[in-house]
Amino acid sequence: MLTETIKNFVGRLFSSPARGPERLRREKHGIDRRNVSRHAIKVCEVLQQAGFDAYIVGGAVRDLIMGLEPKDFDVATNATPNEIRSLFRRARIIGKRFQLVHVVFGPEIIETSTFRAPASDEQETDEHGRILRDNQFGTHEQDAARRDFTLNALYYNPVNEEVIDYHRGVADLKKKLVRMIGDPQLRYREDPVRMLRAVRFAAKLNATIEPASLAPIKQAAHLIENVPASRLFDEVIKLLTCGHAMECLEKLREFGLASYLLPYLDDLMSNPEDRHFIDMALERTDLRVRAGKPISPGFLFAAMLWRMVDKRWKQGVYDGLPTMQALIEAADRVIDEQSGQMAIQKRFQGDMKEIWFMQPRFERATPKSIWRMFEHPRFRAAVDFLQLRAAGHEVDSVHAQWWMDLANAEPEERSPMIDAYQQRNRNEGPGAGPARRKRRPRRKPAGAAANVH
Ligand code: ATP
Ligand code: MG
Repeated sequence: MLTETIKNFVGRLFSSPARGPERLRREKHGIDRRNVSRHAIKVCEVLQQAGFDAYIVGGAVRDLIMGLEPKDFDVATNATPNEIRSLFRRARIIGKRFQLVHVVFGPEIIETSTFRAPASDEQETDEHGRILRDNQFGTHEQDAARRDFTLNALYYNPVNEEVIDYHRGVADLKKKLVRMIGDPQLRYREDPVRMLRAVRFAAKLNATIEPASLAPIKQAAHLIENVPASRLFDEVIKLLTCGHAMECLEKLREFGLASYLLPYLDDLMSNPEDRHFIDMALERTDLRVRAGKPISPGFLFAAMLWRMVDKRWKQGVYDGLPTMQALIEAADRVIDEQSGQMAIQKRFQGDMKEIWFMQPRFERATPKSIWRMFEHPRFRAAVDFLQLRAAGHEVDSVHAQWWMDLANAEPEERSPMIDAYQQRNRNEGPGAGPARRKRRPRRKPAGAAANVH
């Protein structure tokens, strides 16, 4: 009797529910079809007319139910990749690990994938249990079981406007609970990135991670080390640009995940001034995200690591290095140490360095160098960065604003602005803004050069 109860309980935990899925009509899930991408609807219609099952799935359904605007729309179907491709004029099969089809409608791509079977014993894993290959087709029910959280395992049929829910995801979503499907510990082992996804959904939806889904995270946090750097990088970008970056960072620290991603973070966050800088950078990022503006990863990481670079830079100058050399060495060291945990892609490293290396140039600009800086592709980003530093009281805010005005000026306004600036510096002599710093001895500590409180 008791074993039967345990069996039932385990059965409920590890397999899909015996009762079959819940089917929710429009009044129950509240999705307004007008908020659904017409291209995603089209893909479902075409597949259904050809006799297949097809649903909008994943994050889009979750966000629509929560009244948020989905980032993109994915479709799941029982048609194979070849069958999907043959039904659309502009469709291509992509991916090795998972084959899926991109159905292209101008700028919008509807990612369409075949129902997949969940993890099985035959699956290829690494020595920690991380799944390396996962390309078995499966049933609808199996597809639901291999998804990560209940609130991500919802299927919306735009034709009859029904939501199919195998794991009580709608109820969890309404209760704002992030709950892993199946055995959380095993599922984090299969794919440690799920721990980061739990954090992101909790922050984004203002939700709680359900206790059993939360419990294994601290123990499993180190498994992050086995995840390929490029995937970690993508996920960190998603965490920082989900519109709730600070909540994400707080949770990453709380659950012991941060040190595997951003090794400096604990140090910086425990110092009030450094923390203030990161707070501001993330607040600005969140505002941009919520306003639908693009975020540059280079800028974001430049901000996240700046205070560490700044400390090393000052130290280098103090130790007698020339300003620029000290900055270059500080940047290289910080990026190097960061790469031990999570490598930042080379092109973004390039952007970061350009943003950083332009900072001292704002301090001692001449009209000639100002015109040269203008041509620099990262000029605008570097001026934004200067503003951030001014907001953190690292540089004079009037000075930073002048550069911002210059960056925003119409081409014909620039020359008079630069002339006026030079004139003012001549008239007022040392102490009159940016050019003052030009006359400072080169080997002055960077802290003194950059700090104009
Ligand atoms: P976002 O809003 O960031 O796009 P999302 O949930 O749509 O969130 P995607 O990475 O686009 O995230 O994935 C689409 C769906 O695929 C998810 O909703 C989930 O059902 C499933 N999925 C994604 N990543 C995983 C994973 N690591 N393990 C299991 N299922 C996953
Ligand atoms: Mg998505």
